[in-house]
Amino acid sequence: MNDVVEKFLASTRPMLIGGEWVQADSGELIEVIDPATEAVLATVSAAGQNEVDAAVTAASEAFRHGAWTEITPYERSKMLWRMAELLEENIQELALLNTLENGKPLSASIAGDVPAAAKTFRHYAGLCTKIEGKTPQVSSSPSDFHAYTRREPLGVVGQIVPWNGPIVAASWKLAPALAAGCTTVFKPAEETPLTALFMGQLLQEAGIPAGVVNIIPGYGHIAGAAMCTHDQIRKIAFTGSTEVGQKIVRNSAGNLKKISLELGGKSPVIICADADLDRAIPAAANAIFFNAGQLCIAGSRLYIEAAVYDQVLEGLAQIADNMRVGPGMNADTQMGPLVSHKQLDRVLSMIEHGHGQGARVVTGGNRIEQSGYFIRPTVLADVDHDMTVVREEIFGPVVCAMKFDDIDEVMERANDTDYGLAASIWTQNLARGHRLAAQVQAGLVWINCHAVADPAIAFGGYKQSGWGRENGWEGMEQYMELKSVVASLQ
Ligand code: NAD
Repeated sequence: MNDVVEKFLASTRPMLIGGEWVQADSGELIEVIDPATEAVLATVSAAGQNEVDAAVTAASEAFRHGAWTEITPYERSKMLWRMAELLEENIQELALLNTLENGKPLSASIAGDVPAAAKTFRHYAGLCTKIEGKTPQVSSSPSDFHAYTRREPLGVVGQIVPWNGPIVAASWKLAPALAAGCTTVFKPAEETPLTALFMGQLLQEAGIPAGVVNIIPGYGHIAGAAMCTHDQIRKIAFTGSTEVGQKIVRNSAGNLKKISLELGGKSPVIICADADLDRAIPAAANAIFFNAGQLCIAGSRLYIEAAVYDQVLEGLAQIADNMRVGPGMNADTQMGPLVSHKQLDRVLSMIEHGHGQGARVVTGGNRIEQSGYFIRPTVLADVDHDMTVVREEIFGPVVCAMKFDDIDEVMERANDTDYGLAASIWTQNLARGHRLAAQVQAGLVWINCHAVADPAIAFGGYKQSGWGRENGWEGMEQYMELKSVVASLQ
């Protein structure tokens, strides 16, 4: 442990509203559980309706009275860049908190999550000064009118995220909203509020004015629901399950908020017989076992061409068997625990259901009997396309392996899902790779790689995997209104 983190965890963490660190009026607390030990890691104050109202008022004031909107894009850019530096300067503390509350290996938090968050802030620091409109020619009478468009910030936005990548989720939400000039009320998941609260301190240090970012941990059905029905919130940016996404759409209808949704997935990994198997097999394992499968873009349906089916299945099972599962704080851990008891129960019951429907458990399938929410990396074979394990998101380290003979037929199966977030295709025939990429109904397609995300690359899903895109210019555009101005030249 580290002194700063120890001190941070020692007292009940308040929330950030209007530049002040405050406790909820109700005194309601959330206990944050360390998934590797099942012990209480910390307590945080939980927002109710009063805190949501106070946070929205603070964000509205900051927006309407210029605390943020009158700051030049250049100054905004400097603050976001400074935030990126602060994330890097505090990498040890952030990585520790990320691992303690989420469970993932510390090595992954250090090498992956914190640098990814810093890159995201830098990317959007660059975009603050690149906001542009257009000058369309008025088609019917161009000499009578001059027209141009402006991009303007939406105003107060509500941002709600899940627990599976707390730092990355916070940076993907906060950086583009701030770059666009919005003010925000940000709600982390109840399981993982600590990194977001720590980031709140850094945002203050970076010079972000009071009220511009408000961070309110709270339960989804209370604080999250109150954000959705709030009249002064102009947009909800949500990452989480498809089921809650549907509730958000319904609850946001009152003032017709804009909504963007990054939801669940059931992403296919398609390994053709001509793939470089030395790369494809470990990558297919990583696609499902990374973060214990708690990844929206996890490669949870594995389609293997018949000629290499046995070899791939055997290679995958071998990796799963040899995987070091343990607390994220252990230096040699490759896969940490699931985030919560609820998640553990859900994953185990899905496996049991699959088994009951006839799936063969090639390896894994069971809880590791020790404290902490650990399960073995699991490979299921002999699965049928109608089984629940193939159709529903498990959000755990469980892959369903299936054989195919014909590439057209497998594309149909790959697309036969309610989801459409991601897919990867493994072949050494690049023409084939690009042809198949065009056929997959998914927002993200990788050829000979999986889960490559970058602040410059738009991220989001087709079908029930979501609405809108994060990252790239597209991620910032969703925090802006488009205004058309027409001036008479007479
Ligand atoms: P969840 O939908 O249960 O919760 C996500 C967030 O929504 C939490 O902050 C929760 O408090 C809040 N919430 C719950 N009920 C709410 C309500 N009625 N109104 C408003 N907010 C509410 O999801 P989870 O179990 O925390 O996370 C796992 C899910 O997230 C998976 O389905 C996964 O695929 C998805 N996910 C998607 C992406 C993506 O980019 N597409 C990324 C990460 C996770």
